[in-house]
This record gives sequence, C-alpha cells and structure tokens, in this order.
Amino acid sequence: MQKVRVVIIGSGPAGLTAGLYTARAQLSTVIVTGKLLGGQISTTHEVENFPGFPDGTTGPDLVEKMRQQAEKFGAQFLYESVTAVDFEHGSPFRVTTENEEYLADAVIVTIGANPRKLNVPGEAEYTGRGVSYCATCDGYFFRGKEIVVVGGGDSALQEGIFLTKFASHVNIIHRRDSLRASTALQTRAFDNPKISFTWDSVVEEVLANEHGVVSGVRLRNLKTGEKTLHPTEGVFIFIGYDPNSAVFGSQLDTDASGYVLINDRHGTNVEGVFAAGEIHDSVFRQAITAAGDGCKAALSAINWLGAREDRLQPLDETTPAAAGV
Ligand code: NAP
Repeated sequence: MQKVRVVIIGSGPAGLTAGLYTARAQLSTVIVTGKLLGGQISTTHEVENFPGFPDGTTGPDLVEKMRQQAEKFGAQFLYESVTAVDFEHGSPFRVTTENEEYLADAVIVTIGANPRKLNVPGEAEYTGRGVSYCATCDGYFFRGKEIVVVGGGDSALQEGIFLTKFASHVNIIHRRDSLRASTALQTRAFDNPKISFTWDSVVEEVLANEHGVVSGVRLRNLKTGEKTLHPTEGVFIFIGYDPNSAVFGSQLDTDASGYVLINDRHGTNVEGVFAAGEIHDSVFRQAITAAGDGCKAALSAINWLGAREDRLQPLDETTPAAAGV
C-alpha cells in the first residue's frame, strides 16, 4: 500500500487541473485515470471553446497538454480504475484500484458522468463523425445542415433549440407522443420554425456514407412498427446522463440522480473528500467549467491539508509518490 497526500479519482479536465494544483503545491499526488485518460473530452474531435487556443485544438491534444503540465509538477498517473474506496473511517482514506492500494490524506473525486447511449449499430462507430452528445462542443460544425436530436427531456429540447442557431433544421425524435421537458421549453420548441418532431419513434441504426460520415438514421415507429429511413447529417443524442458515483456506494451524499452533493468549498459530506466536474455538475458540463472546478477543489484540499499539517503522518520514502510533503 502506498501512502500519498492526495489521490485524484478521474482524469478529465477537473482531475488534471486538480492534479496540477496539488502537485505544484508540493503535495504528493496520484491521479487514477480510469479507463480513458481525459474522460469525455478526449472523445471530442475539435475543441474551439477552451480559452487559450485561438485556432482551436483537439480533445486528445488538450488532454495530453494537461497531463504533461500536471506531470511536470510531479503528479503521478495510474492508468487503472478505482474499484473500491473507504471513506467511512475518515482520513487517511483507502483507495483501491485494479492492482494498487493507496492511503490518501485527501481525495478529490472527479470521476465524471457519461451521456447515456442508445446502444444501436453505428452509434459508437460514427461518434465524432456526425454522432454527438454535446451541442455546445459540436453544433458549430453543423452550420446549414439538417440534423436530428434524440430525446424528449429538458436536455433534448434545450440543446435542440440551441442547435437551431447552426442547423438549417432540427428534427427531434422522441419515443413517446408527449414530452418529458418543462412546459416552457416545450412552448419554445413548438414555436421554433426550424424544429419539427417525430413521435413514438426510436433510432434503430445510425447510417453513414462511403466516407464514414453520418448520412441518416433508421427509425422504427413503436406504435405502428413501421420502419423508415430518415436522411440526416448529424445525430445529437440527449437521453440523460449517468454520474459515475456507483463506486462510492452510500459513502458520498448524492442527489436522486446520483450527482455528488458539495458545499461552496467543493467539500463532500466526508471531511477531506472533495468533488469537482461532472460528478457534481449536471448543468454546465463544459471542459472549462470542469477545469475551474478542479482548481477550486484542489485549493480547498490544499487548505484543508495545510490546516492539519501537524497531524499528517510522514510518507513512506520508498513509494514512487513520495515526492513533496
Ligand atoms: P431526462 O429528463 O432523464 O430525459 C431523458 C429523455 O430521453 C426522456 O424524454 C426519455 O424518454 C428519453 N430516453 C431515455 N432513454 C432513451 C432511449 N434509450 N431511447 C430513446 N429515448 C430515451 O434527461 P435530461 O433531459 O438530460 O435531463 C436531466 C436532468 O437535468 C433533468 O432533471 C432535467 O430537468 C435537468 N435539466 C434541466 C435543464 C433546464 O432546466 N433548462 C436543462 C437540461 C437538463 P421518456 O420521456 O419516454 O422517458
């Protein structure tokens, strides 16, 4: 078991920023990356709205730069997933991964949320080539194009309305004949001349042209069973999000949807455990807001550790994470 000052669970913009700050504050830091270094942003082909990149960048490039910056200040990376945590006995906290075990004085949870998937043929294959889960990230690339939005909740309508800034037409495909979204959003969507609806229908397959770019969706009407082919250049899927809070069980307080609850210092219900990014944020969901959150959670962790410095046990000199204090 390795003793470290800070374990960061997750490696999206929140986790990488938190790691940069704690490592730079000379606190030994391990970032447990999860399956995909960078999280959701690493699957975004072009990023045009992260400040500091006037010519834009790519998700993988942004993640790599953030990783290098955190590493430069001494953050260690473990390319595994957390399988269990023990927050119940207070600091230091036990964090178990597939092959390692850490004892951390403070933990920053940045494990994110994932957009729900349709799980139909073509969806994964053409993600980034016409299939998207982020209107703010990708809407601009669909200027003047006809696109579809899947879902009937607040996200589908809000993002669908936003996408009419770019797209020539937005068809919202919903599996029922009434919407889950708020009345206000419904009114705005019904009043928008660029929006139409396809009711009682599900997407059965995402189709692509010979260049591997989305060209249509195969739909099935759940009431009649009729199957139709709907040509489209973009498929935006907004059927809800699942925060990755299951690994914490009941140890962290969450709302009914599983988002971790935090105070104004990014502290959770467990003293010494902080949270940042989409694991607590169901509203903004941007790389830059996650990075800002990661900074705030890290500063809180640094302050919290500083206040109890005299009670911190020395680190094991033999552990690779023993740089710093
Ligand atoms: P949501 O409310 O859970 O809605 C998901 C929608 O996707 C539902 O219409 C659902 O259909 C549909 N759906 C789910 N699984 C599907 C599948 N496999 N195939 C096809 N359709 C499927 O999720 P959300 O819209 O992301 O909203 C999440 C939370 O954030 C909500 O509490 C919402 O109020 C909030 N939010 C608020 C705002 C705002 O206030 N402006 C904006 C965005 C989100 P059914 O209706 O048939 O179940």
